[in-house]
Amino acid sequence: MKIGEIFKKGIFSVSFEFFPPKGEEGERQLFQTIKELEELKPTFVSVTYGAGGSTRDRTRNVVKRIHEEVGLTVMAHLTCIAHTREELIEILEDYRGIGIENILALRGDVPHDTPDFRPPEGACSYAKELVELIRERFGDYFSVGVASYPEGHPESPNMEWEIRFFKEKVEAGADFSITQMFFENRYYYEFVELCLKAGIEIPIIPGIMPITNFKQIKKFASMCGATIPQSLIEKMEPVEDKPEEVAKIGVEFAVKQCEDLLRNGVPGLHFYTLNRSKATLNIYSAIKDLVPVRDLYA
Ligand code: FAD
Repeated sequence: MKIGEIFKKGIFSVSFEFFPPKGEEGERQLFQTIKELEELKPTFVSVTYGAGGSTRDRTRNVVKRIHEEVGLTVMAHLTCIAHTREELIEILEDYRGIGIENILALRGDVPHDTPDFRPPEGACSYAKELVELIRERFGDYFSVGVASYPEGHPESPNMEWEIRFFKEKVEAGADFSITQMFFENRYYYEFVELCLKAGIEIPIIPGIMPITNFKQIKKFASMCGATIPQSLIEKMEPVEDKPEEVAKIGVEFAVKQCEDLLRNGVPGLHFYTLNRSKATLNIYSAIKDLVPVRDLYA
């Protein structure tokens, strides 16, 4: 099912993001997680892509297994920075061939482990060009999502710049967007307002990161420019070496965050699961009464 069509029907979406694991044990663990989260009847799930192309086969394999064996609507992330246009078309043709209809079109980051990395000749420089390529070559076959950054992408000097290029990316043919993680909802509300003022009307789905490992999240957050509120730091730091306490505070925090987002009428919730189910299951169980009815066939 095309995700853009689901949003057009005004259906609230609950989605989960996974990464393609290395090795058999990681894959077994991932499919166990998917089985546990399936009970929440996700609208869709998504699988990330290594920006350097390193996970090309693993992402495809996980996407294909979810589509064929689990039967959930699945979106494949695709980054363009390290691929030629021919390679991107080949990857997309392959997805079309196996019946995948949803792509999250991303630029990706220069791979850290290859300091002398140079994009291939004629590669897409920005996600917008990948969206254009998909629309030129595949018309409306794929529903296309793009990333958005409520606090601004780290490379954007200000929010004006952020909105200007986000708008270009949307106008190239994106159906919806998923945000970078954020921990203060005001950033999301302000961003959505700026988008509306700029005439950007696609659904912008908040990306929720349940904190289960505070040290890891501090690192992620500083890399992607997400602010962790001082009050949360003060609660987390004294217990950051006690995983159970961190997870408890993390779940409580995410529950409050989601409740506020739901009360403010967000179009969906996208959970960064890090391939684990427990935190997301706990959060969902606490917010389920606020989640709008989701009847895909209404
Ligand atoms: P773009 O939209 O191209 O923007 C990147 C920067 O360039 C922004 O600052 C933008 O303002 C600026 N810009 C855009 N156009 C122009 C222009 N014409 N001139 C000058 N500046 C311009 N990374 C992965 O490697 N794999 C994943 O699977 C993955 N999944 C993600 C999922 C979500 C929901 C999010 C929010 C991010 C994800 N990322 C992933 C991270 C993403 O690849 C990085 O944040 C990357 O740095 C930017 O990608 P983008 O598609 O947002 O880029």
